Amino acid sequence: MTPTGILGAGSPVLAFDVGGTDTKAGLFDADGTLREVVRVPTPYSVDGSGNAVLAQLGALAQGFAARHPDLEPAAAGLIVPGLVDEETGTGVYAENLGWRDVPFRDAASAALGVPVAFTHDVRAAGKAEYRLGAAGSYGNVVVVVIGTGIASAIFLDGVPYSASGYAGEIGHAVIDPGGIACACGGNGCLEAIASAGAIARQYNALAAVPVAGAREVLDLAQAGDDIAVSVWNTATDALGLALSTVAALLAPEAIVLGGGLAQAGPALFEPVERRMNSLLTFHRRPVLLPATVGENAGLVGAALGARDRLTGAPA
Ligand SMILES: [Zn+2]
Repeated sequence: MTPTGILGAGSPVLAFDVGGTDTKAGLFDADGTLREVVRVPTPYSVDGSGNAVLAQLGALAQGFAARHPDLEPAAAGLIVPGLVDEETGTGVYAENLGWRDVPFRDAASAALGVPVAFTHDVRAAGKAEYRLGAAGSYGNVVVVVIGTGIASAIFLDGVPYSASGYAGEIGHAVIDPGGIACACGGNGCLEAIASAGAIARQYNALAAVPVAGAREVLDLAQAGDDIAVSVWNTATDALGLALSTVAALLAPEAIVLGGGLAQAGPALFEPVERRMNSLLTFHRRPVLLPATVGENAGLVGAALGARDRLTGAPA
């Protein structure tokens, strides 16, 4: 549950988090309180245009307007997965959702009748963690979201770094060359080893009784199941290795771990930190912090973007 008034005072704004499975829409009021969240399935773009997604955003906004006539949103924040170019406002590519080169920012602005701030889902969640969460006192921060996939948002000397949308893809850093096939077409990517989905898949490939998710693998590991212990250790080793490279390259003061897998708490943080630190020598050792904004971090980040758009604050 998002705390009351998380955004602080300002204009009411809409926020849309278009996910690989579901789209979440939120309405924030002038106090910065998330007044309502609606969740609907994300339509697949059969023709690659993204028009079905845009039509859905319009319908969601109309629903809010009907249910909350007291609130008049002055801007909207829209976040999508895949490859995103913030400078041009384009959703370049989303493998799971079928679109290519969709001018989401301008099209959504036309559909909604308000200015739209458009960014990548993980960079928005990262911004929420960076501005409102535990890492706020640091200038150099990497927020790593570990869920179905793994991606990160990078803040260098207080400024987000996206490199036309290509930066932060730590999930596709190769940890095990020639290893397990990854959805990106590569092999041995971090995401293919250590995402929540990968942990469950690897356990199921080896065990007689399948599990539904990574949480069950952790429970089995803690109960002493050898296969589960091995899969969990392989995943936390891979994360520690990847984060040691992040520490060497970017020297963040803090690395925030969020997403579903971070709910595992010390069972994740302790082995990852141990592995990371075992690989560092003179480097600055980042503190590992759990994400604190919660399950609506993407929506909150989208809303922050909408507020920034109105005030002219830098992204
Ligand atoms: Zn990959």
